[in-house]
Amino acid sequence: MEDYKTYTLQNYRSLPQISHIPDECIEAIEIVGRVFPFKTNSYVAERLIDWRNVPDDPIFTLSFPRREMLTPEQYARIRRLVYKQNKRALTDYVSQIRSRLNPHPSDQMRNVPAANGTRLEGMQHKYRETALLFPREGQNCFAFCSYCFRWSQFSGSDEFRFSTGADIAPYLAYVKEHREITDILLTGGDPLTMNPSILRNYIEQFLMPGMDHVRAIRIGTKSLSYNPSMFTTGRHAGAIISLFDKTVKTGKHLSIMAHFTHPVELSTDEAKAAIAAIRSSGAQIRTQAPVMKHINDDPRVWAAMWQRQVELGCVPYYMFVPRDTGARHFFELPLSRCHEIFRRAYSSVSGIARTAAGPCMSTGHGKIQVLGTSEIAGEKVFAMRFVQGQNPELPAVPFFARYDAEATWMDQLKPAFGEKKFFFEL
Ligand code: SF4
Repeated sequence: MEDYKTYTLQNYRSLPQISHIPDECIEAIEIVGRVFPFKTNSYVAERLIDWRNVPDDPIFTLSFPRREMLTPEQYARIRRLVYKQNKRALTDYVSQIRSRLNPHPSDQMRNVPAANGTRLEGMQHKYRETALLFPREGQNCFAFCSYCFRWSQFSGSDEFRFSTGADIAPYLAYVKEHREITDILLTGGDPLTMNPSILRNYIEQFLMPGMDHVRAIRIGTKSLSYNPSMFTTGRHAGAIISLFDKTVKTGKHLSIMAHFTHPVELSTDEAKAAIAAIRSSGAQIRTQAPVMKHINDDPRVWAAMWQRQVELGCVPYYMFVPRDTGARHFFELPLSRCHEIFRRAYSSVSGIARTAAGPCMSTGHGKIQVLGTSEIAGEKVFAMRFVQGQNPELPAVPFFARYDAEATWMDQLKPAFGEKKFFFEL
């Protein structure tokens, strides 16, 4: 399903633009690329990266490993092992680092349901009405984001992977039995890396009798940024759009949950044509991304992105806070800064572009939105709320945390007003 030439650690030196990458960045790719999965493609290289601005270009940083993604000690040790060609010690040390990089942030393992005493390892029943399905054939991406929170899906270690097995019958039986599930999210990886006939097989399962309670099918994807011609001129374009069309005609809602990191991803003719093709099928496109230092930590970037999305017929959906995984120290921003970026972007676009919720943390309890800062009874606080909760009673209940200018995640915050616990911990 890849319509562009792919580059990985093995062949990136054959990129036509290689001479634009400074020597120290080449070394960093060789070293850091041993820990974080690295893959990009000719579309990203030719159409999205501004090579005059490398290494600070946001899409270059989104696509290529950077030295600062490892600690100086980790970097120095891997460098030594690479140059000594000590493969065994290198493999051991890389897996040691990976196991410390929190492969399953937000306690995702606890959302894995069970049927007849067997864990359904390719599913997360995350919220009452929403189940995530990780199709075995869709645990890949067209290119890899350097900040990927699902990096463990591509690390080659089965121990860290979510994925259905060859037999999806137990998953379907679980969904049939759980009538409270109204939304199925096909996720990965990127489910649109699957061959359309396999994708059709997954989608059609939820159009069958007995699945009438499933009202929406969502597909999480970054294909509009990394592989847009798959919807227009690619060899399977017709099959994909007609699958979307057929799904919509059954009366179910089909939502493409598009991951856009930066407005440049919306600027190409290929991306615009791909969005138009999807919309012509009747599918809706909702957009989401994390706010990341070095890539999109600027309100003007978010305002431009939301504005452009609305003009193209997409619905801005979420701005996420970087999760506690991977090279978090390189990308993370204080919650106070995330909120400032959100507030300034939100206030500079018109009402129809103000549909995104953010900044939101996907925690083990649910998605928590930082609504803002305030001073109440002499105490500076963050006002917050759940927009999604494992416990369906949590959403839309406001609560307060003591203000902390440096905190980057919920677990670093304390309840306001001298309380010992947050209301959802009681
Ligand atoms: S598209 Fe999503 S799953 Fe794929 S590499 Fe990027 S963040 Fe990870």
